[in-house]
Amino acid sequence: MAYGLLEKHKVIAPAVPVERIAKQEGARIQFGPLDNELSGMVFFKDSVPIIGVNSLHHPNRQRFTIAHELGHLMLHRTKIETGVHVDKELAVLRRDALAGKGIDPIEMEANQFAALLLVPDVLLEQTVPSSRHLDDEQIEALAKRFKVSTVTMQFRLQRWLEKS
Ligand SMILES: [Zn+2]
Repeated sequence: MAYGLLEKHKVIAPAVPVERIAKQEGARIQFGPLDNELSGMVFFKDSVPIIGVNSLHHPNRQRFTIAHELGHLMLHRTKIETGVHVDKELAVLRRDALAGKGIDPIEMEANQFAALLLVPDVLLEQTVPSSRHLDDEQIEALAKRFKVSTVTMQFRLQRWLEKS
């Protein structure tokens, strides 16, 4: 599903313009200061989906939050239509959360959607050196280029290298 979005919005190079994609999918994005432990939220107002983002967080993290909430909109619309879905820090940041250990399956799905949207295979293929042996510096450089956290980049690289 994340890949379908990339094709539809003609994304051919990193960093994935997640804010533009979310808007073009009909969401309104509101940036504002929230408690540090809150990443963001998604809810409907007059049938318009609103994504709230904690503007105090690092820009990369805000991008992940938008992608995560967009994941809820695409995958769990009927579940979130009835109220405000609020996301706390730990659910979306930690590596075990990305891997889906010990968290709500819908959060796991939204995290995986976000990771795949922000760091899709097709863009990794273009950007990862052919040797595929990456040191920490290279991983950091890739994370910068994709505008994601190092944790997200490591998680995606690991999955991608296992697959190929
Ligand atoms: Zn969530």
